Amino acid sequence: MSVKRKLVVGNWKMHGSHAANAELLQGVLSAQPFGCDVAVCVPFPYLSEVAVTLAKGPLAWGAQDVSAHEQGAYTGEVSAAMLAEFGCRYVLVGHSERRAYHGETDQIVADKAKAALARGLTPVVCVGETLAQREAGETASVVKRQLSAVVHALTHCIGEIVVAYEPVWAIGTGRTASPEQAQEVHALLRAQLAAATPQAAQMRLLYGGSVKPDNAAILFGQPDIDGGLIGGAALKAADFVAIARAAG
Ligand code: PEP
Repeated sequence: MSVKRKLVVGNWKMHGSHAANAELLQGVLSAQPFGCDVAVCVPFPYLSEVAVTLAKGPLAWGAQDVSAHEQGAYTGEVSAAMLAEFGCRYVLVGHSERRAYHGETDQIVADKAKAALARGLTPVVCVGETLAQREAGETASVVKRQLSAVVHALTHCIGEIVVAYEPVWAIGTGRTASPEQAQEVHALLRAQLAAATPQAAQMRLLYGGSVKPDNAAILFGQPDIDGGLIGGAALKAADFVAIARAAG
């Protein structure tokens, strides 16, 4: 069993408003302290207000995407340097919704992770197979290929990232990977990282995909699951708090 501090990250996706964010964060803040690290990854326009609200507390914040480019004529993109100016600690990279709807390839994901690290942000690199890939017995080869692009791009600083295993068929579907299914993939990812860095055992590998208060503890109890990336349940303070409590 891992003894490192677990990490629970909320992915708000494209949800929120000034009023809803304030209420949600108030609910989470009033439940602290937590026995794990907690962060929220929010839509870009809300980074400023979230930075103010969370400034003096233990909760970290971050964004849901970052440009692979340093700066320049990339309309609509947001650089890692900009995110750093807003106090972001984390940024999601390669979420399956970005891969599926925005054509993000393994190489783009790797370049984004590199851009984030160059500015002191921790990329939460998401990998995961579709249902068709799982049913075709391709889970291991898909996640291995996705992670391998990042390992190759980052070489000596691969130990600085967080990895999130998110089976696409479990995201937002209410269908969760069983603890055994999740652990099996996490063990594969850990072994792949161990071949690349002596820090692999200390790295945090998150599980994401319909994590809820009633399944969080058993998932987080698996030896290679070091916390969670939480979508829908991160939008309700009581659920997000219960999940964070399950992590430690
Ligand atoms: C996610 O968006 O990363 C996610 C895991 O969503 P959900 O928890 O809603 O499945």
